[in-house]
Amino acid sequence: MGSPRAALSHLVSVMRARGVRRLLLTRVLPVVLIVPLLLQILLADIIGKDPRLFPPALRQAKNLLIVTAHPDDECLFFSPSVLGVLSGNPDITGSLIVLSTGNNYGLGETRKKELQGSCAALGIDPARCLALDNAELQDNPKVWWDEDAIISVVKKYVKKWNTDLIITFDSGGISGHINHRAVSAAVSTKENPSKYAATDDLAPATYVLSSVGLLRKYTLLGDLPLTALPFTWRIMGALLSRGNEQDESFDDKALLASSWMSYLKTRQAFRSHESQYSWDRNLYMILARQVWFNDIRRVQKAQM
Ligand SMILES: [Zn+2]
Repeated sequence: MGSPRAALSHLVSVMRARGVRRLLLTRVLPVVLIVPLLLQILLADIIGKDPRLFPPALRQAKNLLIVTAHPDDECLFFSPSVLGVLSGNPDITGSLIVLSTGNNYGLGETRKKELQGSCAALGIDPARCLALDNAELQDNPKVWWDEDAIISVVKKYVKKWNTDLIITFDSGGISGHINHRAVSAAVSTKENPSKYAATDDLAPATYVLSSVGLLRKYTLLGDLPLTALPFTWRIMGALLSRGNEQDESFDDKALLASSWMSYLKTRQAFRSHESQYSWDRNLYMILARQVWFNDIRRVQKAQM
């Protein structure tokens, strides 16, 4: 048996540990849970359409084009952007080109049809909701797509639909899929802006969806404070006064958070991809940050 002094010291350390635990449970945990939720509500329902967060290039565009690689990318990754831009800009028409039919398991035709339901749920024009079947751009996790073939397709639809706003993957491709990254490399690479969006004078304003590391990906709203950090001054400004809707200095980035209604639309879009329905995808639709909010960055024109 230990000495009374050792027992007393043990008792003090246990009480301290309990005190710390109680402090964590009663003070720190509620803050960690509530701050992201309040921030989401603030961004989605209160200041989300301030030009500092929803800049002129998004609010003044007439024809939005989302460029993805597979049917379901639009709702798994881009729905806060699609729903945010379409709801904040009544004069815009939403379009989507999916560069493959997602035929890796022979389900291409089925997935093409499923895409239509997703576009309807997201408010994308059904006549401008296309899953393309180009021999050089087939769904394949081992093949780097021909970048010139991608650029040629994007250019065709930019011209056809008078596109003045593109949103697509960044160089991380969100999930890291090789097809996603090839799309980014062809259209725009934020880190190395050497392609279409940066160098072609006729290329419209182009934004890329930011990829994050694995630890931040599946944290529901938990990652929102960190994502919102670069927008701190803009958020504070938006809380104090309405920003200037013509101020193009806000165009470099945007933060789009989904309201509860938008989230339900995202789930509805996801349900139309019946062939892709599985328990882990269901979990994804709750935990993945991309279904709740998107932060997008504008590709800067290269200095020629
Ligand atoms: Zn994909």
